Amino acid sequence: MKQFHTKLALQSFLDSQTGTIGFVPTMGALHVGHISLIQQSKKECQVTVASIFVNPTQFNDPSDFEKYPKTLEADLSQLAAAGCDVVYIPSVTDIYPDGMNELPQYALGNLEQILEGKHRPGHFQGVCVVVHRLLDAIKPNCLFMGEKDYQQVAVIRKLIELANLPITLIACPTVREANGLAMSSRNIRLSAIQQVQATHIYKGFKNQLTPEDFTTDLLANGFERVEYISFCDPKTLSLKSNQKPYLILVAACIGGVRLIDNYLIA
Ligand code: AMP
Repeated sequence: MKQFHTKLALQSFLDSQTGTIGFVPTMGALHVGHISLIQQSKKECQVTVASIFVNPTQFNDPSDFEKYPKTLEADLSQLAAAGCDVVYIPSVTDIYPDGMNELPQYALGNLEQILEGKHRPGHFQGVCVVVHRLLDAIKPNCLFMGEKDYQQVAVIRKLIELANLPITLIACPTVREANGLAMSSRNIRLSAIQQVQATHIYKGFKNQLTPEDFTTDLLANGFERVEYISFCDPKTLSLKSNQKPYLILVAACIGGVRLIDNYLIA
């Protein structure tokens, strides 16, 4: 597996390659969910590129940024074992050579006002800036992202449309632990007890609890805060009643860790 730390070196290598490029952007602390994206890319494309970059501009909470897990050596072994061809591990200055002020703004419309957009001001602008720069450096044919971050997929679809990029976005299913907990890099920060309590998110989905009962159940099982539990249209993410199909989206905090998850009731 080739490793690059600068856009220049990465691009000169990719220019020498023939065949389609699949790209999997990550923030590291890799788990089986990330690796499922690498596997999908390997099925569909000839060269698979992953990136590892904890993007400062998408964190609205400085302590979340500081505490974000970093496991680079283990990440590299997992990527190599999965058959990833190239990993790009840029520095902050490689992505932001002109600093992090005065960044472009993306017209995301309502997507920025609802759910994660509402609860994490500025988050999706930061996501768009970094993903746009990574796409510009790598120029992939296909981009692989997880449905775990359902609204992020919608935001990147919008970015691709706004920037008119010739890229196919492929959304891959959420990988869960055997007990139903959605895999997440932030799960490392939960105690063993909290990891079990966090399965109440999945239980709430499976039991199709109303938002009120769902909230009560989470607060009774170790969660200190529920930011939202919303039933939405899976296509538009606008609010919907419990008429099928609907998507349940959850953001809730346990042990100071903010978890998100979603589940389709078809
Ligand atoms: P992150 O490192 O959290 O930025 O995630 C990188 C990519 O992996 C994003 O496209 C996520 O949606 C995806 N991802 C994260 N967790 C999972 C999971 N449990 N199953 C599938 N994809 C995931």
